[in-house]
Amino acid sequence: MNRGSHLTSGAILSAASLGIYAASPALQGAISYEWAGVFVLAVMAGSTAPDWLEIPHYNKQAGKRVSLISHRTITHWTLLWVLLSVYALIHLVTILNPILIGNAIMVEPWLKGFILLVKSIPFYNTVTLNSAQSDMNAYLIIVGFSIGAVTHCLMDMMTPKGVPVLAPYLFRNFSLRLVRGFTGEMLFLVAFFAAMATLVRGAWL
Ligand SMILES: [Zn+2]
Repeated sequence: MNRGSHLTSGAILSAASLGIYAASPALQGAISYEWAGVFVLAVMAGSTAPDWLEIPHYNKQAGKRVSLISHRTITHWTLLWVLLSVYALIHLVTILNPILIGNAIMVEPWLKGFILLVKSIPFYNTVTLNSAQSDMNAYLIIVGFSIGAVTHCLMDMMTPKGVPVLAPYLFRNFSLRLVRGFTGEMLFLVAFFAAMATLVRGAWL
């Protein structure tokens, strides 16, 4: 899928994140506006990361794009990005939870539900370590970057070339074979926008 489509999905994801942030005084009390902006930058960087991490360049002799790491292999390893985002999210919620409760900030029911959901992830208690509040910003960046990359992998999964889900090199790339060409990409982005808009609407209700 082309760079423009990935950046558009990153922009949709960023707008949705800001929409959810704007709906929640509790989140605004815990995370500053500046860091919400940094989160957006991390999402945008992450949404194209699986491609630029391959270190691509144009080979004049071959007359095509070549890359240091072969295309759609290790940098598109979907499971790895999912695990990284879950890991960072667990840490983020661990840090946010006492801040939200300690400051007696009114936590919206949906946010409480989301925190409970993250806490229900197996091994939550074993991963929970003495995460300092100062680490919060680092985890914000990792969460933003990795969910951007997960979105990238999901988009590439729609195309015939697919992505490695469980392990690159060991298994064939997995493809849903749903999107081919420009119209397919546009339809996918419209559907993604609708899904994100529904999510944001839920946070405002
Ligand atoms: Zn890609």
